[in-house]
Amino acid sequence: MKTLNLHCDYIKFKALKKAIKSIDELAPNQNLEAESKECLVVLIAVEKTDNKSTIPKIVDDIKKITNEIKTKNIVLYPYAHLSSNLSSPETAIQILQTTKSELQKANCDVVLAPFGYYKTFELKVKGHPLSELSREFTNNKITDDELTDEQRERILKEISKSTLDTSKLKENDHRIIGRKMNLWSFNSVAPGMVFWHSKGLHIKNKLIELWREIHRTEGYEEISTPQIMDRKLWEISGHWSKYGENNFRTIYEKRDFLVKPMNCPGGMLIYKTSPKSYKDLPLRIGELGVVHRVELSGVLAGLFRVIQFTQDDAHIFCTENQLEQEVAKIVKIIQQIFSLFNLKFDHVELSTRPEKRIGSDKIWDATEKSLEKILKKLKLKYSINKGDGAFYGPKIDFHLKDSLNRTWQCSTIQLDMALPERFNLTYSDEKRNDKTPIMLHRVVFGSLERFIGIITEHLDGNFPLWLSPNQIKIMTLNDDVKDYANKIFQKLFNDGFQVELNDKNESMGKKAREAQIQKFNYLLTVGEKEKSENKVAVRKRNSKEITTTTLDEFITHLKKEISSKTL
Ligand SMILES: [Zn+2]
Repeated sequence: MKTLNLHCDYIKFKALKKAIKSIDELAPNQNLEAESKECLVVLIAVEKTDNKSTIPKIVDDIKKITNEIKTKNIVLYPYAHLSSNLSSPETAIQILQTTKSELQKANCDVVLAPFGYYKTFELKVKGHPLSELSREFTNNKITDDELTDEQRERILKEISKSTLDTSKLKENDHRIIGRKMNLWSFNSVAPGMVFWHSKGLHIKNKLIELWREIHRTEGYEEISTPQIMDRKLWEISGHWSKYGENNFRTIYEKRDFLVKPMNCPGGMLIYKTSPKSYKDLPLRIGELGVVHRVELSGVLAGLFRVIQFTQDDAHIFCTENQLEQEVAKIVKIIQQIFSLFNLKFDHVELSTRPEKRIGSDKIWDATEKSLEKILKKLKLKYSINKGDGAFYGPKIDFHLKDSLNRTWQCSTIQLDMALPERFNLTYSDEKRNDKTPIMLHRVVFGSLERFIGIITEHLDGNFPLWLSPNQIKIMTLNDDVKDYANKIFQKLFNDGFQVELNDKNESMGKKAREAQIQKFNYLLTVGEKEKSENKVAVRKRNSKEITTTTLDEFITHLKKEISSKTL
């Protein structure tokens, strides 16, 4: 609620024309014309966030002012122009009338000017220091029981409407595929953040499973660090001052906290919990950390540009001698993962020392040279991005090309000469001298959300069996085979497959179309013939060929396809 309090010699007002058609039904018997003298005129705009808990605040405030200026005459004057966030007329009328009667209980003489009318008014302000006071009342705590039914309905309607305008999107846009396949959605209550539906989460979890399997084999440990951490930590890392605008801040027990925009500083603290020696290196520590970075809500685009995302982060602590081998190992992981999706490198970029940097030229010479050497050795086509490295070290960016000929930068390897020093990370070398390790930041997927968006469009929703949330759809030809179909469903379900049964009394054409839209990998038809032969009729996605097989044979085939991760 916003108010402007004016101590006046007089005010005269008159309603001229209805501003709300049905105002006489909403608020019958309003005082359409009046004059008041030696009064406090309170211009009021009731806002969306106001409810009955706002009333005591404004009543107390008006009482205080009238005591100070020594008058009992009050004119409550609805004045919409004070706010661009007005409440509904019903709420405003209710609040104004209750405020009036509360003030009358305190022996004030109160006039309520008409609501919902265009009015003409004339007043004369006294001009002493207390004669003009503006106020703003906010409700920080809106709990469910404080909302009126009407308010709750309105808010609910507001947040339930779809924000996805599909008219400008292409058919294979991941937002459209996501809706058809029931994978994810977005809502204005959480801009740039994904609501994962069960099937979309299945994809994300499968990618994480793959990531864990590969990294475990490659000698990585996995950690998890807190979501919000004290500003002290971010002052050391430089995020508090440097990227202040891009961070979400929060307060707890009067301490400033940052919602983590990066995982590294938390990881540094784990490194420091125990002394390290050269025997512990290389130390490879991964974290699937959820990070938040502020973006303008106007530039958000589904999974491609998000505020909250899961980074498949890892930090590698090593000696200078181990650097080459470690970078080569990372490149191997990157190639291994992307080959599963038939995503090839378009080009690789090596970014070198910028003008503003830390570290001696000698160390920049050495690190740039060793990164280049590795790229040559791996026979990767690369270009040099002169001066585009981070201030703390050179980096390698990997650009992929998808089936639509678009390029994407997902993976990156960054050498860091700053953070280990800032956090005083050390290890003792063979001669028991304290040394600072070299650190690599690296991601493969980059953001899991974005990567899922990329492969959804790259594959046009045709997820390979191992990743697919819609693996098998069983469809019945008639009601007589329901029991048999259900038996097949149970067997596949118990074996852990993503299987669904459609035994509705609908035409086969309709059932098949539905399953095709949802991109099921396999369609199983069950009719009398299949039941009597104890078999299933199988059709693969995007194929016309139907093969009849026993369920066991089919399961063996599925398992083989899953373990080979064929596309
Ligand atoms: Zn990092």
